[in-house]
Amino acid sequence: LPEPYAKVPELSDVRSWWPHARPHDDKYTRGVLGVCAGSFRYPGAGELATAGALAGPAGYIRYAGTASRHIRYSYPEVVTKDRVADAGRVQAWTVGPGMGTDSQAASQLASAMAAPVPMCIDADALTLISDEPEALYERQSPSVITPHDREFSRLSGRTPGDDRAADALDLAQRLDCIVLLKGYRTIIANSNGDLYFNPTGDPSLATAGSGDVLAGLLGAMLAAGVPPERAAMSAAFLHGLAGREAANHGPVTASGIAKALPTAISRALGTA
Ligand code: AMP
Ligand code: MG
Repeated sequence: LPEPYAKVPELSDVRSWWPHARPHDDKYTRGVLGVCAGSFRYPGAGELATAGALAGPAGYIRYAGTASRHIRYSYPEVVTKDRVADAGRVQAWTVGPGMGTDSQAASQLASAMAAPVPMCIDADALTLISDEPEALYERQSPSVITPHDREFSRLSGRTPGDDRAADALDLAQRLDCIVLLKGYRTIIANSNGDLYFNPTGDPSLATAGSGDVLAGLLGAMLAAGVPPERAAMSAAFLHGLAGREAANHGPVTASGIAKALPTAISRALGTA
């Protein structure tokens, strides 16, 4: 059960943190997200992260990576480039799912990290960063990292123990970032000491590609200007609701979670 010092957000919190489009908004002011995910070998991760992003509140999703051909055919609304450096200006980046860990991936990650915007760093990007976590510490803009246990171990040098919240907080403080430690009762730890448990979600979320969808949604919330701690908390919360929604239609898959997100979000916001 949650530690006494951790906050457990309620539906009403997540609802109040959602950035609704304002009357004079255009696609740029609603937020532009860059997604660098997927690769020639793993195009699916790019598709799932993009699907998660499209369910979010941003106005414009740009894709950069070597799966651009797949993305272009699957999502006509997404502008694609092969390189992060060519993606133009964005308000946030999601980087990592299925991008690989070769030198090309490393240089894409470095380009995204150099942008002075909030960032969601997941999966292969976490593996790349494990070699040089100081690069994260030195970033001036907010970074949210979204490790599962194995990624957490690679980054911190040890497996999360009995007190996962304390371990997540420790890493957040060491890297000066927000750590969203995934798994049973996902934890969000901020380097400023804030600690949250996500009350939604169940083990059916533990399915290949599930985290890719979460990383996309989280990035879209950052791009829309939601403060990083709230963006992380909201994305985990809504991802959990989408998993439950997806379970109504049979075995839960990552594509099913992505498909269920818009309905889960509308229900959560009280607009459906
Ligand atoms: P990934 O391993 O990157 O695909 O992410 C897995 C997703 O499933 C994350 O959102 C986790 O929080 C979620 N998840 C995995 N195991 C559990 C569990 N036992 N209970 C609830 N959620 C889980
Ligand atoms: Mg993952």
